[in-house]
Amino acid sequence: MKNDTAQPQAVAALTPVPALSDNYIWMVRKNGHALVVDPGEAAPIQALLRDGLVLDAILLTHHHGDHVGGVQALQQLTGARVYGPATERLPYCDVRLREGDMVELPGLDLQFQVLDIPGHTAGHIAYYGMLDADTRAVFCGDTLFSVGCGRIFEGTPAQMVESLGKLKALPQDTLVCCAHEYTAGNIGWALHVEPDNAALQQRAQDVTRLRSLGRPTVPPSLASELQTNPFLRLDHAQVGAAAAAHVGTRLDSPQAIFAGLRQWKNDFK
Ligand code: ZN
Ligand code: FE
Repeated sequence: MKNDTAQPQAVAALTPVPALSDNYIWMVRKNGHALVVDPGEAAPIQALLRDGLVLDAILLTHHHGDHVGGVQALQQLTGARVYGPATERLPYCDVRLREGDMVELPGLDLQFQVLDIPGHTAGHIAYYGMLDADTRAVFCGDTLFSVGCGRIFEGTPAQMVESLGKLKALPQDTLVCCAHEYTAGNIGWALHVEPDNAALQQRAQDVTRLRSLGRPTVPPSLASELQTNPFLRLDHAQVGAAAAAHVGTRLDSPQAIFAGLRQWKNDFK
C-alpha cells in the first residue's frame, strides 16, 4: 500500500564537543543515532553515549593524533563503523574514502559527499552534506578554521588554495565545522590584514562575547567566512596589498598571496 503523506524529516542536533586543549569533536544526533567526527579522545564522547544513543559512525578527516586518538576505544566500545581518508595511516579504519565517494548512514538518514582537500596533510578529506531539511554542514578538520586555515605540513600553498577553493564553492549557508577553537587568535591577526573590514570587526565583537561566556565560536556559516577570513579573500585588493607589504615583495598570484599570508600568520605572536 502506498503512503502518500511524507514523513516529516527529523531535525538533527549538531554539537561541538570540547576535547583535549582546543579541539572540537563534532557530534550529530538524529533519530536516536549519532556520528562523531575526529575523536581525538574517547572520554568526552563516552560521556554522551547514554540514554540508548547509538554511535553508528566515526568520520576521520586526517591522521593527526588530536583527531584520531579516541578512535580505537570508541570503535571497540560501540562497534561504530570508521570512515577515513584513502591514503593516510590511521590507527583503525573500516572504509577508505576519496573524492567522489558518498558516505551513507541509514540509521541517521544522512549522506555525505567526500572532498579531497590536501595541504595540511597529504590525504586530508572533508565530508559535506545536509543534516536535515534546513541545515547543511561541512566537516573540514584542520583545513579551514574560522578566520584562519590549517598550517601546511604535507602539501603546498597551491594545493591549499585549491582545497580552500572547493570549500569556498559550497552553498553559502553551509556551516563550517572545523576541528579547533582558534577563532579569537585568528581574528587578532586578521585585523592586521584588513583593519577596515566591518564584518571582521563585528565578528571580533561577537567572538569576544562568546568566549567570555565560555561558548564555542563555531560553526560559522561559509557566508561569514567569505566576509572575514583572509585566506578566503585572496582576490580582495586590501588582502593582497597587506600580504605584499608584510613580505616586502610583489605577490602576483593567489598562490603567492596565500603563501605570504600563511607565513605572516605563522610568525604572528
Ligand atoms: Zn591536524
Ligand atoms: Fe588538529
